[in-house]
Amino acid sequence: MARVAFIGLGNMGGGMAANLARAGHDVRAFDLSPEALARAEQAGCLPADSAQAAVDGAEAVVTMLPAGAHVEAVYGNLVGRVAPTTILIDCSTIDVATAKRVAETAWAKGLAAVDAPVSGGIAAANAGTLTFMVGGADDAFARAEPYLSDMGKAVIHAGGNGAGQAAKICNNMLLGAEMVATCEAFLLAEKLGLDPQRFYDIASVSSGQSWSMTSYCPVPGVGPETPADRDYQGGFAAALMLKDLRLAMEAARGAGATVPMGARAAELYEAYAAEGQGGTDFSGIIRMLGANRPLTRSRTEEE
Ligand code: NAD
Repeated sequence: MARVAFIGLGNMGGGMAANLARAGHDVRAFDLSPEALARAEQAGCLPADSAQAAVDGAEAVVTMLPAGAHVEAVYGNLVGRVAPTTILIDCSTIDVATAKRVAETAWAKGLAAVDAPVSGGIAAANAGTLTFMVGGADDAFARAEPYLSDMGKAVIHAGGNGAGQAAKICNNMLLGAEMVATCEAFLLAEKLGLDPQRFYDIASVSSGQSWSMTSYCPVPGVGPETPADRDYQGGFAAALMLKDLRLAMEAARGAGATVPMGARAAELYEAYAAEGQGGTDFSGIIRMLGANRPLTRSRTEEE
């Protein structure tokens, strides 16, 4: 087992650091928030006074921070501090350009670095069932993989540095557009007189089937239990979907890619967040699309 520095112990990082400690690693944790640090200590990590203190002697450094600017700032302070054998693993969702830039900063000091953003929310972070999409050289991937396996159920090598972030934002752009389309289909079906459950029974085994339909149905009382059944509380916050869509739009602009569906999804999530709904689950956008008249078949009414 290894000494691991973990920086960023928020909603996601808290559970991930706890899983590394549970796997037997000596986890030196740091967060700007004393509360987050105290939770990590309760979960078996050793709190450090600073990011620099956390990384001293570490064989791996894991970061789980809000955005690219935070990662760049933390890397700027730590790359000169860690041993050349240390592997740097950034699990935050950030823009592709910053992911490549921080990797180059690490290379300049002879360090190996990977970007390893995750799919799966807070529950998966706590349960150790995240999926990691990893960008980095083959040897860096091989060194990061055992640590990521202790925090997730799947670790996939996407390509060189930045490829993990590219995979993450393309996946979430697809998810955002797919969710909006799924909501629209349910709303139109209802206007045409179709019962939502009947439409689900048909579309979920037809060519309109998708994850947004069968695993994350936006209609209460239809399909498996989802945030729709909890008044769109919990789940994947619309604000985080919007963050990922903005990153996708920025990447598309930089790459000269045409993404009309992604762009429309971004506009719709901007509008949804502007209604003060950023903290609710992203499937709740069905209420805005249905002019705030949600489809209502509550599970309890039905059962
Ligand atoms: P969060 O805001 O709960 O946690 C971020 C933590 O970083 C906070 O505790 C903050 O105090 C800490 N922090 C900020 N700057 C710091 C610094 N300089 N040094 C040390 N600590 C610092 O965010 P989160 O929900 O845990 O998300 C983290 C990342 O994971 C984001 O990039 C997010 O997009 C991504 N993500 C989140 C989810 C989710 O469901 N929450 C899912 C997938 C990916």
